[in-house]
Amino acid sequence: MADKPDLRGLPSVDRVLGLCGPAIERHGRAEATAAIRATLAELRAGASAPLPNAEAVAEAVGHRLAERYRPRLRPLFNLTGTVLHTNLGRAVLAEAAIEAVTAAMREAVALEFELDTGRRGERDDHLRELLRELTGAEDATLVNNNAAAVLIALNSLGAGREAIVSRGELIEIGGAFRMPDIMARAGVKLVEVGTTNRTHPKDYRGALGPETGLVLKVHTSNYRIEGFTAEVDGAALAAIAHEAGVPLLNDLGSGTLVDLSRWGLAKEPTVREAIAEGADIVTFSGDKLLGGPQAGFIVGRRDLIEAINRNPMKRALRVDKLRLAALEATLKLYRDPDRLAERLPTLHFLARDAAGIGAQAQRLAPAVAALLPAGFAVETCACRSQIGSGALPLDTLPSHGLRLIALRGRELEGLAAALRRLERPVIGRMQDGALVLDLRCLTDEAGFLETLRGLA
Ligand SMILES: *Cc1c(COP(=O)(O)O)cnc(C)c1O
Repeated sequence: MADKPDLRGLPSVDRVLGLCGPAIERHGRAEATAAIRATLAELRAGASAPLPNAEAVAEAVGHRLAERYRPRLRPLFNLTGTVLHTNLGRAVLAEAAIEAVTAAMREAVALEFELDTGRRGERDDHLRELLRELTGAEDATLVNNNAAAVLIALNSLGAGREAIVSRGELIEIGGAFRMPDIMARAGVKLVEVGTTNRTHPKDYRGALGPETGLVLKVHTSNYRIEGFTAEVDGAALAAIAHEAGVPLLNDLGSGTLVDLSRWGLAKEPTVREAIAEGADIVTFSGDKLLGGPQAGFIVGRRDLIEAINRNPMKRALRVDKLRLAALEATLKLYRDPDRLAERLPTLHFLARDAAGIGAQAQRLAPAVAALLPAGFAVETCACRSQIGSGALPLDTLPSHGLRLIALRGRELEGLAAALRRLERPVIGRMQDGALVLDLRCLTDEAGFLETLRGLA
C-alpha cells in the first residue's frame, strides 16, 4: 500500500480561494467555494503522495467549474447524414428566423395586441394570413407540434364519435406517437377499415354511419407499403367523406409548402395540394421539411378551425412568442422560392449536389488525417444521406463523406467517443466497420478543423 500522506499538507479553502479570482469573477464566490470544498474532499478521499499544492488545486477547481457550466445543449456538427435528425434537434433555422427570435426575446412584442385598434388581439393572427396565402386554405391555427395538432383536431372534430382510418395508415412515429393511442386520448373511437396493404372506397363507405365523426387520412411518412397495394387517394376520400356529411382530416406529417422536385428531390404532397383535393383540415410540422422551429400547423375550413380554437386544449398547446417570431420569418421566405435554397438551411442541405460535397471531402481529408490520433486513417467515400424525421424514408440522397477507420490495435468506438467529447461534438454514423462523417450538413469547415484540434 502506498504511504498515506499527511492530509494537513493540503492547502486550506481560503488559500485556494485567493488563487481563484477568475473563477469567482465568472461564477461567484459561493460556487467557487463549493467547488474548492468538493475538490479538496475528493483529494482527501483518494490522497496519495505527493499532495498537490494550492496552485494545482486552483487549476482543478477551474476545470471543475468549466465542466459544470458547459452548456449541455450546445452546438454540434451533425455529420450523421440525416438532415432532419429528431435527436439532434431537427431543422436548423434560417438567419432571418434567428434575428426575429432574438428581437422578440429582448423586447416586448404585440403578441396579443392589435396595433391598429389598440385592442386585445389573437396570437395566431400573425401567421393566419401567411398560412392562408401559402396553402390556399380558408383559415389556419397552430399549436406546439404536429402530434398536438392531430390530438386537438381529432378531439375537436370527433370527440365521442368514430374516426375512420385505413389499417395501412395506423402509424407509429418515434417517441411513442402511435395513432391508435392518440385517437384514444383524443376521445375518438377508432374504426379501422381495409387491410394493411389494400384499402378501397367501399371499405370506407361500409364503415360510415350515424356515429361517424370524421374520416382520417395519415401520410405514412416513415415507411412505405409496396407491391400489391391499394389506397384511396385524397380527392376520392374527400368525396366519400363529404357524401356522408363528415369532414376529412389529413395528417400530412412533414408536409411541405413547395414542390421539392424543383430541387431534385422526390415529390412529397404539398399542403396546398391536400387542401385543393378537398381535405377539410390538414395538419403538418414546423420543424421537418418546412425548416422552421417545432410547431404544429392546422389549416382548413374556417368553421372547423374556429371549433379547434374554442377547444380548451388550445390554451394548453399554444405556441410562445419566440416560436411565432421564428415561424413568421421562416414562412415569409417561402414567398421567394427562387432564393429559398440559399436562405433556408434545411433546403440548402437537401439540395446540395453530390459533386460539391465530394470536392469538400477531397479538400478536408488530408487536414483531418493530420489531426486524428495515431492509429486511425481517413479515406473519402461516397455515401447516401437521409432526409430524416420520417420524410421520404426511401429516397436517400447521393452524398460524400470521410471514412474514419481504426488500424490494428485501435478501437473505432474510442474515436467516436472522443469526437463526442469535443467542445463542439462531432457526430457521425457507424457503417461497415468505419465511422462515416457525411459532409452534407457541414458548412463551417474552418470551425470543424479547429474543433478537431481538441483531439490532441
Ligand atoms: C412527424 C409526424 C407527426 C408528429 O409530428 P411532430 O411535429 O413530431 O409532433 C405526426 N404525424 C405524422 C404523419 C408525422 O410524420
